Parts: sequence; structure tokens; C-alpha cells
Amino acid sequence: NERTFSILKPDATRRNITGAVNAVIEAAGLRIVGQRRIRMTREQAEKFYEVHKERPFFGELVEFMTSGPVVVQVLEGENAVAKYREVMGATNPAQAADGTIRKQFAESVGENTVHGSDSADNAKLEIAQFFTDADIA
Ligand code: ATP
Ligand code: MG
Repeated sequence: NERTFSILKPDATRRNITGAVNAVIEAAGLRIVGQRRIRMTREQAEKFYEVHKERPFFGELVEFMTSGPVVVQVLEGENAVAKYREVMGATNPAQAADGTIRKQFAESVGENTVHGSDSADNAKLEIAQFFTDADIA
């Protein structure tokens, strides 16, 4: 069983829809095996999105991710990385398929409710940034 890393972003905690998003995650057959509500520091957000640091939206992205609490999660299931990307929907909610989290909940390409790892290797690295092995045994 594969694991992936998920973040319920500040727009989700602000609108009090983390339970609604979790219901979609669980209905898709993904199991929440680790979960913590945190306030990301600027350093954590910059490190987490380091691959995007040359992009024009990087500053805005770091501002947003530190603008309120987030819920960091480890999800487990068959093909969890690909399955969660499918459940999340396209980065831009205007292009997201029906039934996806972003289609249902996201308000813009920047404030798009959820993050999910884009590969199994990145999932491992991202999980290790926020969880110890004991947290998710
Ligand atoms: P995530 O990495 O958050 O799971 P993703 O893999 O669908 O989302 P990426 O291309 O990795 O999308 O972009 C990371 C995040 O940067 C997006 O989720 C979004 O919040 C933000 N972002 C991406 N493109 C834009 C843009 N054009 N304008 C503003 N923010 C953007
Ligand atoms: Mg991404």
C-alpha cells in the first residue's frame, strides 16, 4: 500500500471545510493515517515549494501558505499518489473535473484547497518534512 502527502491549505481551514474535504478523501478509498493542524512558518513554506522558487507566483504562494493554519496529512491506499492527484483535480479549479475536490471547493488557481505529492519519491521527502516515523507507524 502506497502513501502520499497531503495538505489542506489555508482556504480550507478558513472556510471550515476540512471535514468535508476529508469525506471526499475517504470516499475515494484513501485512509488518513497521519494528520496534524499546524501553522507553517515562512521557512517551511519556502522549503516545501522550493521547486517553484523561480516562478512568478512564488511570493504569493508562500504568503498564502503561511496566511493561516493548514492540515498536513499522510494518506494511504492502492496507488495513493496517482489516486489522490485524480481526486484533487486540476490545479486550476476552472479546469477540474466534476466530483474532484478542487471542482467542488477551490476558488482560484492560487487558493486551491489541497496539495498532493506528484510522485512516490516526492511523497517520501514531503512526508519526512512534517512527520516522524513514530507519528505514522
Ligand atoms: P500542489 O503542488 O499544491 O499539489 P499542483 O501540483 O496541482 O499543486 P503546481 O504546479 O505544483 O500545482 O503548483 C503548486 C501550487 O502553486 C498550486 O497548487 C497553486 O497553489 C500555486 N500555483 C500554481 N500555478 C499558479 C498560478 N498561475 N498562479 C498562482 N498560483 C499558482
Ligand atoms: Mg505540485
